[in-house]
Amino acid sequence: MEREFAGGVRVEVVRGDITDQEDVEAIVNAANAGLTSGGGVAGAIHAAAGPGLAEEARLLAPIEPGEAVITGGHDLPNRYVIHALGPVYGQDRPEAELLADCYRNSLALAEERGISSVTFPAISTGVFGYPKREAAGVALRAVTEEAEKLRSVRLVRFVLFGEEDRKVYEDALARLLGERE
Ligand code: ADP
Repeated sequence: MEREFAGGVRVEVVRGDITDQEDVEAIVNAANAGLTSGGGVAGAIHAAAGPGLAEEARLLAPIEPGEAVITGGHDLPNRYVIHALGPVYGQDRPEAELLADCYRNSLALAEERGISSVTFPAISTGVFGYPKREAAGVALRAVTEEAEKLRSVRLVRFVLFGEEDRKVYEDALARLLGERE
């Protein structure tokens, strides 16, 4: 699914793998506070980027929930990795605000670097336990509310690992646009 927003920003929701996004300049990592590897998105990104990523990221750690930092992409096909720390559901509060901050702060870093395309994963919806439907609403709202202010970012893609998740994020986008209940 693909929609164009105010100012010409394209928002896409697709199924795929975050490490397989060679046509975007930056991918976003659902990071942990220490910016180390681990499982899920972070594990996949660190495995594909090689050890140089952890070495560079270590110097920027620790980060707080809602915060984002940027590094190079190392062996990834992307020029940059933006590392955002999502809230642990039921623990880091207010969780919706902190989750929205991840998306806003990541886009702000992208703007600062003149980045034109960014792919986000479903931050906090894995081990951090954020219910997907809620997380999807927060994520899509945060991005579409920023859309008008974006100057260099022209494409924001959400990549979901499974078909079910893709539908949940698509629904959230459609609901925001008033296309679905
Ligand atoms: P968090 O710790 O922020 O919850 P996770 O990495 O555990 O982050 O998971 C975030 C979401 O990303 C989950 O919905 C998970 O299914 C999905 N995911 C896991 N691996 C990948 C991948 N390689 N590409 C895209 N999405 C992924």
